[in-house]
Amino acid sequence: MTSLPLIPVDPDAPGARRAAMPPQHLADLDLAGRKDLVTKLGESAFRARQISTHYFGRLVRDPAQMTDLPASSRDRLADQLLPRLLTPVRELACDDGATRKALWRLHDGSLVESVLMGYPDRVTVCISSQAGCGMACPFCATGQAGLTRNLSTAEIVDQAVYLAGVAASGKVAGSPPRLSHVVFMGMGEPLANYNRVIAAIRRLVAPAPEGLGLSQRHITVSTVGLVPAIHRLASEDLSVTLALSLHAPDDELRDELVPVNQRWKVCEVLDAAWAYAARTGRRVSIEYAMIKDVNDQPWRADLLGRLLAGKLAHVNLIPLNPTPGSRWDASPKPVEREFVRRLRDAGVSTTVRDTRGREIDGACGQLAAAEDSGTDPAGEMTA
Ligand code: SAH
Repeated sequence: MTSLPLIPVDPDAPGARRAAMPPQHLADLDLAGRKDLVTKLGESAFRARQISTHYFGRLVRDPAQMTDLPASSRDRLADQLLPRLLTPVRELACDDGATRKALWRLHDGSLVESVLMGYPDRVTVCISSQAGCGMACPFCATGQAGLTRNLSTAEIVDQAVYLAGVAASGKVAGSPPRLSHVVFMGMGEPLANYNRVIAAIRRLVAPAPEGLGLSQRHITVSTVGLVPAIHRLASEDLSVTLALSLHAPDDELRDELVPVNQRWKVCEVLDAAWAYAARTGRRVSIEYAMIKDVNDQPWRADLLGRLLAGKLAHVNLIPLNPTPGSRWDASPKPVEREFVRRLRDAGVSTTVRDTRGREIDGACGQLAAAEDSGTDPAGEMTA
């Protein structure tokens, strides 16, 4: 390697340019905070519970439908507690309506996206934690664009609440109407927006009307491997699933594929993952994008198998979704099968991730990228 990308700057670091954050929203606050705010506005504290019940309990986001709030208070409460954070730019569907992708414009014009995936037994949403991403992984479309800013807690939560409402409307054929799983695998590096992501998780798991009432075990935080933040996550009283984007078992290649590896090496990041597993009892998901002739050699499967054997880990192989103009391709299926076989022979539980949403670029920030460049990535997909 002659020129490695630089480790990006944390936008919240002292001296970093402060990006324009959106107005405060009820999902930024816990129930006690909402009560305080409502009281400061001269309203009775119980209005906080009422408005929260609409938003989190009934998935109603339009103040006009909150008819149990007196008209005189409704506008003021809505202004202060329910500013519009996400403006839908477009919604795309594929897989016979079982996968839906939403592209949103934020108050400052930034674009982010979320994906809703319906299965016979569950409904999962994949949400974004940042506008863009500063981690610079060269195979990821979002990584190419760089970081615009962190999302607020409510901007993160509102993606899930909006799509929970879509699921509840019965639009996801063949799936239960209730959102059950949330994965932080959209745009951004969740652990680089640590406090807001943790607050968002607390809202997602708090019972209604404080939050959406999801199970902690049904929430997955995916990270490039910010070691101190993984340790910090382990010390929260949350048992969410940790997914580690490993993509290479050796430092030489991982330094290139996941540049943050220049700071925290494979052995350090795996140690942090095992500490997380020990503390929470949760199996860590090891993410590995299969890139033809780059990281898919049998010897790398064997090395990965040796690193993971006997650990509380599961490998999720992701067929690479090539980004436009990329020099890389997905591994051929026989190569992928051999990789799986070697990992399983080493005693490591391994699955290949389904490729939901490929036609609508559901994997890695391509829709937002295409929207920015004025091209239509989805052709005649249904909106
Ligand atoms: N920043 C976090 C979460 C966002 S990406 C992380 O890196 O984990 C979610 C997953 O999609 C990561 O494992 C990421 O490496 C993977 N990914 C990104 N671009 C991809 C692509 N083009 N093909 C396949 N997987 C990709």
